[in-house]
Amino acid sequence: MIPIVQVEAPAPQLVVLASTRAVLTEPDNSLTLSPATITISPQTGTITSIVRKVLPASAFPAATTQYVDYSPNVLMPGLVDAHVHLNEPGRTEWEGFYTGTRAAASGGVTTVVDMPLNAIPPTTTLHGFKEKLAASQGQCWVDVGFYGGVIPGNADQLLPLVEAGVRGFKGFLIHSGVDEFPAVSAQDIALAMETLKDADTTLMFHAEMIPPIADSVGDAVQTSEPPLAPHGALESYNTFLESRPPVFETCAIDEIVCLAPAAPNLHLHIVHLSATECIPILREARERGINITAETCFHYLGLASDNIEDGDTRHKCCPPIRSQINQNGLWAELGRPDSVIKTVVSDHSPCTPDLKLLPGHLATPAPRAVAALQVEKESPYMRHSDSGIDMTLPEDEANSASKTETATSPPVDEAISVLPTAAEEELAKMAATDKCGDFFAAWGGISSVGLGLPIMYTAAQARRAAAEAGADIADHHTHHQCSDVDCDDDADSVSPPSSVPTIVDIVRLCSQATAEQVGLSHKKGGLRVGLDADVCVFDDAMQWTFTQGDMRWKNRCSPWEGHTFEGRVRATWLRGQAVYSLGGANDGFVGGRPVGTPLIEKRGTAQALKA
Ligand SMILES: [Zn+2]
Repeated sequence: MIPIVQVEAPAPQLVVLASTRAVLTEPDNSLTLSPATITISPQTGTITSIVRKVLPASAFPAATTQYVDYSPNVLMPGLVDAHVHLNEPGRTEWEGFYTGTRAAASGGVTTVVDMPLNAIPPTTTLHGFKEKLAASQGQCWVDVGFYGGVIPGNADQLLPLVEAGVRGFKGFLIHSGVDEFPAVSAQDIALAMETLKDADTTLMFHAEMIPPIADSVGDAVQTSEPPLAPHGALESYNTFLESRPPVFETCAIDEIVCLAPAAPNLHLHIVHLSATECIPILREARERGINITAETCFHYLGLASDNIEDGDTRHKCCPPIRSQINQNGLWAELGRPDSVIKTVVSDHSPCTPDLKLLPGHLATPAPRAVAALQVEKESPYMRHSDSGIDMTLPEDEANSASKTETATSPPVDEAISVLPTAAEEELAKMAATDKCGDFFAAWGGISSVGLGLPIMYTAAQARRAAAEAGADIADHHTHHQCSDVDCDDDADSVSPPSSVPTIVDIVRLCSQATAEQVGLSHKKGGLRVGLDADVCVFDDAMQWTFTQGDMRWKNRCSPWEGHTFEGRVRATWLRGQAVYSLGGANDGFVGGRPVGTPLIEKRGTAQALKA
């Protein structure tokens, strides 16, 4: 363990974090890796000075200073995850502020921005936003910003939501999956653009739409099957992938770009871009002066369809995870200095495991997850007897009340190696359900908030190794056997070294640029004097395997389970307070209570005051 030199009382007047390696923000906004000693005021929670060498603890008054030298771990600004679905209130059983932000804190994420849908009510009205804020009260382990939603008929709510402090707006060009958040038409988009054209905000789109029928079907147009209806087994990942081809994305982006001239000053943004076919359209639009950017997600950069087994619905998300070749293309774009993809986010979007319709062999709860659940009093037991995913063991039920009381001494490593008969029966029942493994019936969404740094760093290391060896990236990158004979094609498309991101690039994509995207650059996303002292301590030398026991989300289901990662977050500091320390007491959650705050300052206010 790294020694923490601290005198308990009185409360420190100074917090000092040092390391031989820190990613610092320069005055011109470039990022530099340098030794650093960062001094923080606990009163303001901001960085007060940065010295570009490691000063010893003795350089500071011992009685009033909390000093930690984290060398050789990397100090970096806490990640700003600009795309997270926390679903509370209304679908709190899918995820909630408490569990979602704990997961964020444990992965070095110090700000999350919550999406406007899946909670009930959705954040499409001022009233909905107030409900959301009330639900978040006292529950956030990191700072939380909020998006508003654009749906048909809510144009009158958009400017009030801007005033109330939303970081941007999101609309769907295809069914969102939940009925209370309908898709928008071209007319709705035009109206939203007109309404927001002079506002300091970002209008974002889930850019997938069913393309218009290209070939004439004559008089049968009213009764013909929709284009691109699924063909093939519904449990086959390829059937799902082919049902949402790149043209879904390019068609939607074409429409947005077409409407864009109506609001030349408004920042437009494509969320979770997956298909590389979108890149030339966005590049061309930007060259014409349209203010449009895109983000992609950890799963599009770290997973590939080539390796997804049939029936493994943990991988379902929309737009879908595409081929290794497509993934290489996304990395190549990220490596360009003028990349249209400016940010990388999680799109953390969980649901209860039963909605994932997992086949029996994937629905088994890991022993450590079962034990860990017993100590998390805010995380209710998962009881989905219709799906067979009941993570409470019968012998624990009698003890559960007393165990939830003793949350400070978690028996998380308690080994429970045998599933009880009841659970086995439930699993068997589930396996018999005919929808199991059906990619079309399963809920789409991937849980990964807090895992972004290991995912990005691991992928970056694999790309580096492949580029240096001149080898096929797929050989280094995957953890599964590839069953696709076409996979050898990848050898021709190995990306040049420029698409190998460094730790500094990862900070830019996941912290600096995401903070800018949501109008928080004046507070978040950098290690620089005056900014919030949000610090992530990353051990890039640690190799570890992600298990259900490591999942802090409410529902412990993720395609990342079982993946071995390079690099792990050792500690997280939020505005000068330690909030997470790997391996520490209270399951690592320092202080034992959430200290995150809602970020509801109207966008542009601080910049306006400075100007
Ligand atoms: Zn999303």
